[in-house]
Amino acid sequence: MTRGRRARSWAAATTGGVLLGGVVLSGCTTQVEGSATAAVAGADGIGDPYYPLDGNGGYDVGSYGLELRFDPDSDVLSGTATVVATATATLSSFNLDLLGFEISSVTVDGEAAQTARDGGELTVTPAGSLAEGAEFTTVVAYEGVPEELDDGLGLAGFLQTADGSLAVGQPDVAASWFPVNDHPADAASVEVSITVPEGLEGISNGELVDSSTEDGWTTWQWSAPDPMAPYLVMLAVGEFEIDEYEEDGIRYWDAIDPALADEPAQGTESIADIASASLARQPEAIAVLSEWFGPYPFDVAGGVVDDVPELGFALENQTRPVYSPAFFSDTGSGEVVVVHELAHQWAGDSVRLAGWQHIWLNEGFATYAEWLWAEHEGTSTPQEEFDRLARRPAGSSFWRTAIGDPGPDSDDLFSEAVYVRGAMTVHALRMAVGEEAFAEIVLEWFTSEAGRAVTTDDFVALAEEVSGEELDDLFAEWLGEGRPASLG
Ligand SMILES: [Zn+2]
Repeated sequence: MTRGRRARSWAAATTGGVLLGGVVLSGCTTQVEGSATAAVAGADGIGDPYYPLDGNGGYDVGSYGLELRFDPDSDVLSGTATVVATATATLSSFNLDLLGFEISSVTVDGEAAQTARDGGELTVTPAGSLAEGAEFTTVVAYEGVPEELDDGLGLAGFLQTADGSLAVGQPDVAASWFPVNDHPADAASVEVSITVPEGLEGISNGELVDSSTEDGWTTWQWSAPDPMAPYLVMLAVGEFEIDEYEEDGIRYWDAIDPALADEPAQGTESIADIASASLARQPEAIAVLSEWFGPYPFDVAGGVVDDVPELGFALENQTRPVYSPAFFSDTGSGEVVVVHELAHQWAGDSVRLAGWQHIWLNEGFATYAEWLWAEHEGTSTPQEEFDRLARRPAGSSFWRTAIGDPGPDSDDLFSEAVYVRGAMTVHALRMAVGEEAFAEIVLEWFTSEAGRAVTTDDFVALAEEVSGEELDDLFAEWLGEGRPASLG
């Protein structure tokens, strides 16, 4: 994620943009009292201390199939979600996360199931228990006007826009538009079929596999087979100029709201011009980042820029980041945010968080990528960025946040320190272990951990293994509270 206002001030400030107890997440379960069988109720949370009710225990999702219709006249979203999961315990019931909506039916393996709702928790009790290790298919039919979220970063969730809708947010968004095991520890493949009035586009992650029109409604089918954290699933409905192309074996779908062609930006250019030019640099940015992080982890890429000026951030939705148009008021800011969100395709999407506490692994690397890009552009080196930031006074609030455990409030989780000191931590490691070991650590991290959920401890262990050095003290001072003493 890149936050709008801060991204700008950091860009101005930078020319361009750990420890701590790995949370072990498991599909924990709670025993049903008085149960005559071994079947248990799946837990209502996956075990993240920051967000105890995010995700659920007792199963592991393999795929989501969403067949949805959105009507911009009524703002009603309706359809079915098919969730294929494997039980990690013998279950008498299990939970999904879902906010709002009327549920008209829930089936498990084709049989009607009982449901109960409590806030964002939907408890599903199938006709019979689900054996540990068994795959089961849950189909939820639902309908309603999705609720927007206000999580401290401003508007997020399922937003109604001038010409449609936009679903985007972090850490919470998925449960506001589909039933889900809503935590990055449980990634799954996603297929989205979105039906919208003819003349509007429906855009989601991955590859556009089909579109067809019938009776004034167009259905767009998107397929994203690589496992994806639920918060990275995006949906945009509205008028878009779609630019489809292929470069270096990667297929791109970029979508820009044509209304942005009327929004003035730098010089004589429009927001749409600068967005288009910034997205045109994606292949080059991916090539630069691949030199450090290894091959781009997916087959497809592209970005979405919707005319939603109140959106305060950009988000690294898998294969299809969503950008606030505010980033494209000037070329420098536009290119940097694109590099940042592309870096997240490795750092956060392919290698994803086992718990939100470890957010610096996402934002530190994405910010470090901005420094690598600045070096590629010839504007500054990572060392210059590091040295300039290291001069911030010891009393600055910048040094106060323990970025390895920043806390669950949005202002802490996405604080400037998590991003910038996160990048400084990456560079401090580089200075400590030397160029060769650093390059090997980074490459190994993004290749061997691809597709997995990770913690800070995992990163420290890999860095120590590759470098052969004891690095606990380095990470303790960089990820903890206070200005590192090693800065002198
Ligand atoms: Zn970010």
